[in-house]
Amino acid sequence: MVGRLAAVIGSPVAHSLSPAIHRAGFAAAGVDWSYVAFEVADGQAGAALDAMRTLGIAGLSVTMPHKAAVAERVDRLDPAARALRSVNTVSWDGEHLVGSSTDGAGFVASLDDAGVEVDGARVAVIGAGGAARSLVDALARAGAIDITVLNRTAERAESAAALAPVASPGGVGDLSGADIVVNATSVGMGDDRHVPCDPALLREGQVVADLVYHPIRTRWLAAACERGCRTVDGLGMLVHQAALQQRIWLGDDAVIDTVAMRAAAEAVLTARA
Ligand code: NAP
Repeated sequence: MVGRLAAVIGSPVAHSLSPAIHRAGFAAAGVDWSYVAFEVADGQAGAALDAMRTLGIAGLSVTMPHKAAVAERVDRLDPAARALRSVNTVSWDGEHLVGSSTDGAGFVASLDDAGVEVDGARVAVIGAGGAARSLVDALARAGAIDITVLNRTAERAESAAALAPVASPGGVGDLSGADIVVNATSVGMGDDRHVPCDPALLREGQVVADLVYHPIRTRWLAAACERGCRTVDGLGMLVHQAALQQRIWLGDDAVIDTVAMRAAAEAVLTARA
């Protein structure tokens, strides 16, 4: 085979930004890799991994609804994927398939990119779904000293908080004590004009992040900016989780250009708008 192939599997996958981001990354890295999107129906994750083995596909990105199923079927898991029972990246180690989870570490990297230190920080995570869980795990690994999880459904907040000793479920009263406040719910996505909680609870000097990246500038981030907070958008996490995937696939010496990757994602979002 000339060059190597990586792909994203998911359903629906047609609107994934991953092909644009990864193709830009491979081009900037100067490697002969291609990247495509495969629509894979729910329940077919095992068949997709079989195809990866048969066809010699070099790397997979995994998105909804396959993250948990892939975690059950690879040969080995990295520590984050093992803790979360969720995989967003598949790579080869010799004959073995390795599942990794780069979502949470991608978020931490996006904060780092924005000059925000997680080590020693108090963080409030709003939401307790798959994305929030990856944040709790990664923020704790990165040295956050306190993580409060706020969620509409209390049991899910408890379950997410159980991922890290420094995490606990909480309420909106805990927001003012946080250095970093993150919206990890889907509130504010697309045409949704809602905010995940009352922006009046935010205070000047806090770092406020959103995982929603469509639109890039959400109402939540705009309101936080008006309150005098520093803001970090969700496209940073998307780009950095992909950059970490390329690091796994291409190795430590590869050039990873997150600026080019982000520009490619922004170009697609602008064209769609
Ligand atoms: P998920 O597993 O479906 O979880 C959704 C979360 O949002 C749950 O906590 C849910 O609360 C909460 N929620 C939904 N609607 C709500 C509402 N009207 N009011 C209050 N809470 C509400 O989804 P996910 O995979 O965690 O993704 C969450 C968001 O992060 C999505 O917008 C996704 O696009 C984004 N995301 C971004 C990146 C990135 O790279 N930037 C990566 C992953 C995900 P309940 O538990 O009470 O239902």
